[in-house]
Amino acid sequence: AAKTRQCGSLIYHAQLDAGSQESLSLLTELRHAVENEELRLFLQPKVDLQRGRVIGAEALVRWQHPRRGLVPPMQFIPFAEQTGFIRMLSAWVLSGAAKFAREALDAGLSLRLSVNLSTRDLMDQDLPAKIEALLAPREVPPAALCLEITESAIMDDPERALSTLEQLHAMGLKLSIDDFGTGYSSLAYLKRLPVDELKIDKSFVMAMERDLDDARIVRSTIELAHNLGLSVVAEGLETAKAWAMLARLGCDEGQGYFICKPMPQEQFIAWAAAWQPP
Ligand code: C2E
Ligand code: CA
Ligand code: CA
Ligand code: CA
Repeated sequence: AAKTRQCGSLIYHAQLDAGSQESLSLLTELRHAVENEELRLFLQPKVDLQRGRVIGAEALVRWQHPRRGLVPPMQFIPFAEQTGFIRMLSAWVLSGAAKFAREALDAGLSLRLSVNLSTRDLMDQDLPAKIEALLAPREVPPAALCLEITESAIMDDPERALSTLEQLHAMGLKLSIDDFGTGYSSLAYLKRLPVDELKIDKSFVMAMERDLDDARIVRSTIELAHNLGLSVVAEGLETAKAWAMLARLGCDEGQGYFICKPMPQEQFIAWAAAWQPP
């Protein structure tokens, strides 16, 4: 199997075979990361572009490695997905998001926390019960949690994904299609899936100011979402001009560096209290 290690940094090739020495050691390190509390929850604000208000945040995991420093998710998420470790990681993020939603409520802020899920999570038939066990004891309303799922995660096994998603939706959780427009999607599934939100992929949003086709894709996606009764979020909102364009096109929510980069969760409540719309 192909293996790549780049100058000591933690780049593991996605095709790393599960039995190899290297992947075994990464798996061990990841288990330790959870036990030793090396994972950190970062939050990136989501704001209402029409009303200029902070309405939630996306939970993004970081690995504070004792020797390698802050490891970005793309260097271990694909591996975690391949080995099944992702379920433990998702459980950690979901639990962190539920705790944070409680903290925010106690501080007088009603926020919606978005959590990324992968195919393997959707194949777990106990997922709805596990989420219920995180929310109910804390009295966090299910609508305070939004699950972001990519089109490809659904298309892996659409029938099974659909059954899990229907249960989650019936519980009152919000569901979002992440990176919309980049995967192998089917509009027929979009119609059948119990989703609440479309998230326009950042590649389109970041290019729309200079590329007319990207601008048209953004505009059509907003229209499509609204015609299907879905709310729409633009990610990768990096400039004042992009904010103005999106607001004018009727886009509901935005997320991106222009508003704020992902920050350690401890900083979020103070940031939200001080934020002013541009
Ligand atoms: P994603 O779900 O598409 O998350 C958005 C990514 O875009 C984040 O990168 C965020 O920092 C970045 N981003 C946000 N605004 C901007 C912007 O204005 N410009 C640019 N250039 N980038 C922006 P991050 O945190 O490195 O995460 C990368 C990916 O790793 C995520 O993409 C998601 O697929 C995955 N990931 C992160 N945390 C988790 C997790 O807890 N569970 C799972 N399953 N996947 C995760
Ligand atoms: Ca996401
Ligand atoms: Ca995304
Ligand atoms: Ca992505």
